[in-house]
Amino acid sequence: MKNISLHIPGFPRIGAQRELKFALEAHWCGETDPVQLAATAATLRARHWAAQRDAGLDFVTVGDFALYDGVANHIQLLGCEPARFAFGASETPLQRYFIMARGRSGRDECGCGSAHSASPALEMTKWFDTNYHYLVPEFTDATEFTVASERLFDEVAEAQALGHAVKVALIGPLTFLWLGKGMDHKLALLERLLPVYGAILARLKAMGVAWVQVDEPILGLDLPAAWRNAFEPTYWQLNQAGTPLLLATYFSPLEENLSLACRLPVAGLHVDGVRAAHELINVADWLPAHKVLSVGIVDGRNIWRTDLDSALSQLAPVLDKRAGALWLSTSCSLLHVPYSLAPESGLDSELNNWLAFALEKLDELALLRAALVTPEDAAVQAALASFRQAIAGRRASKRVHNAAVAARLAALTDEAANRPAPFAERRVLQQIRLNLPAFPTTTIGSFPQTPQIRAARAARRRRELDEVAYAKAMRAEIAHAIGQQELLGLDVLVHGEAERNDMVEYFGEQLDGFAFTANGWVQSYGSRCVKPPVIWGDVSRPAPMTVDWAVYAQGLTERPVKGMLTGPITILQWSFVRDDQPRADTAMQIALAMRDEVADLEAAGIAIVQIDEPALREGLPLRRARHAPYLDWAVRAFRVTAGVAGAATQIHTHMCYAEFNDILPQIAALDADVITIETSRSAMALLEGFGDFQYPNDIGPGVYDIHSPRVPDRREMVALLKKAQAVIPARQLWVNPDCGLKTRGWEETATALRNMVAAARELRQEA
Ligand code: GLN
Ligand code: ZN
Repeated sequence: MKNISLHIPGFPRIGAQRELKFALEAHWCGETDPVQLAATAATLRARHWAAQRDAGLDFVTVGDFALYDGVANHIQLLGCEPARFAFGASETPLQRYFIMARGRSGRDECGCGSAHSASPALEMTKWFDTNYHYLVPEFTDATEFTVASERLFDEVAEAQALGHAVKVALIGPLTFLWLGKGMDHKLALLERLLPVYGAILARLKAMGVAWVQVDEPILGLDLPAAWRNAFEPTYWQLNQAGTPLLLATYFSPLEENLSLACRLPVAGLHVDGVRAAHELINVADWLPAHKVLSVGIVDGRNIWRTDLDSALSQLAPVLDKRAGALWLSTSCSLLHVPYSLAPESGLDSELNNWLAFALEKLDELALLRAALVTPEDAAVQAALASFRQAIAGRRASKRVHNAAVAARLAALTDEAANRPAPFAERRVLQQIRLNLPAFPTTTIGSFPQTPQIRAARAARRRRELDEVAYAKAMRAEIAHAIGQQELLGLDVLVHGEAERNDMVEYFGEQLDGFAFTANGWVQSYGSRCVKPPVIWGDVSRPAPMTVDWAVYAQGLTERPVKGMLTGPITILQWSFVRDDQPRADTAMQIALAMRDEVADLEAAGIAIVQIDEPALREGLPLRRARHAPYLDWAVRAFRVTAGVAGAATQIHTHMCYAEFNDILPQIAALDADVITIETSRSAMALLEGFGDFQYPNDIGPGVYDIHSPRVPDRREMVALLKKAQAVIPARQLWVNPDCGLKTRGWEETATALRNMVAAARELRQEA
């Protein structure tokens, strides 16, 4: 008799209709009080637990809910709010929570009447290789821990009161320390941290919690020896609490940490059965027989229906080794996928049939168990058959496979990835064509997306505005942006991206092989959600996408206007990607489509084309050994996109949100004529790497932070540029902001850019 239990590492918090987002925003602008916010949160938790129970899961997961972020919850649970916030006794835990998440200005926002000093929010950064951002804990030698919040225990009681069997999910102590910043020897804090975990586990045990899942995804990283060695004593100590622990790993294979993970003194181990599928048998072998093995067989990172037949054949040998006992799960928390397919009536039925979001993934788990336990059941057989049909349909679909795209990919030569001349020659030809001054000024692409622009787009979506009227409104915006840039005296102009909702969605909507959901929201951070496109088939470009706008903008001015494109890796990285071919192939298909756009822009007389790749670095695999192969195909995809441009056409690229110093050879290998990067927040420190590396092409280090409403003055920007000149030869330098200006207002933007142009002129005079 097979003994299969079902659970999930975590569930989306934001709600089927993004209820949490709207509740948070209403609360922040003072429309609701904490009681109302708490009520919405409790309703969502209750609904999400009910969904897990109704699908037949053996436990509901508690502790995965957070108003803003799970790491922020954990910081409060452990009582390690950074001292720099100087919280007063009058501030409630909820107020402190949102201050850590969103920062505090000098104003008395909490209403306690005493003056506070301004404190910036906790830094936000990507959770492993996902697009979810967590709040970074801050540690110092003085950091102390205590059980400082009742929230987790209250939520456990809440679930128990609803009659649920509870499994608690907790961030593990080593992963928590690893994620923090502020000190070199974070492991030194472990000794203080573990007794607090012990106390939490003891309380959970006293509440009758059957299992605690302790998340240690860092076991899938290249860990320094000290961190690896810390696992055994840590778990030996946590195990003393007597609460059964399920150590959870995900996102990456365990590799050299596999035997360590199997040996740890815990009651069970969860592994990612999708990304580490090849390790399953090893884990099943190594893990002692008395321990629970939880296999994350359903993909928590993507939106495709599971191929149940192949999942079952993968599980069969594992079950044999585990004497028929297993837990089944999703590979990781379902935080990273949308809530449900139910509202997606707009997707055609064939595509709809290929997908599974969070709720559907719960049903897949239930069906997998049924297929293992009662395979002879007719209803089970029927359900499996319908899955089989959907999977086979997708595999054979003529829509997915486009012979012309395949042929083009196969015929791709190395030459396609090379510009027609080396940079030194291109530079001369481009200078003859563009005649730019020293320290040329430009912007990154977008200008303020005003309420009017957004209203026009919404009206078009509701079909209240026809295409002609919409195009007219957008042309007026472009004309305004061009006029402003001429007044400001910028050298290289942009059309302003008024017509773009989003830098990926805009292209995806015009490319074949992409689909868009109506409600497929995924939390990015706090109340912010994104709706990634779904790349379901071979990608091709039926028609030019940006040429009309670019030509219109260029027609308004004598100065060069940059054509503005999103690069293949960023499009790939910010979409749900098909799982039936390597990511590299999908990237190259996108590259070919974008290459055609570059060619068309050039043919239409556009002299400069910018290909944005802000997501190039975030695509790096978690394991270092896989960096080189990724970077190879990512760089090649960019080069194929740009390679079609003639020598006199200037190719720009733009990157932000990142440390680049570890991938400088690859950034140089992109061979863009100009790269603009985010540097102002690091006061040009980031640029030193480019200097040491002797970065060969032109470079525009951002001279002001567009994320802040603060308007920098000329002197400040001159000082930054002088710092830049100390490491990069002046002839290579451009002058530009850190990133696009779409989130800013026109007034602040105009003042900042006026100062920026004045700074460039000052430098020219000194040169
Ligand atoms: N061209 C884009 C813009 O200006 C670039 C955005 C980005 O780098 N994230 O908005
Ligand atoms: Zn940017």
